[in-house]
Amino acid sequence: MGAQNEQVEEVEVWIDQDLCTGDGICAQYAPDVFELDVDGLAYVKPPAPEGGEAELLTEPGAAAPVPLPLLNDVVDSARECPGECIHVRRVSDKVEIHGPDAR
Ligand code: SF4
Repeated sequence: MGAQNEQVEEVEVWIDQDLCTGDGICAQYAPDVFELDVDGLAYVKPPAPEGGEAELLTEPGAAAPVPLPLLNDVVDSARECPGECIHVRRVSDKVEIHGPDAR
């Protein structure tokens, strides 16, 4: 990792709902990114528009961009997720950087 010319990578997150236990840990860590829907499972949501509400992305595998200030909370969520189903990846090449498929 070079310190110079370091570019901030855009990162996005998605959840594999098939493995979600619905415990809500992610929604506690990063409530602006994760939310439990009426089905009791967690989904991601993109940043809310100014003056509006964020829309939950309920399609399976839908990814939401992670605002940089929330990245640590999202990474912690992925680490603590009991279902091991939170996937954090680079937008540019879709390589998982945190989560069960990260190396
Ligand atoms: S922490 Fe993981 S298992 Fe728990 S609600 Fe969130 S996505 Fe589901």
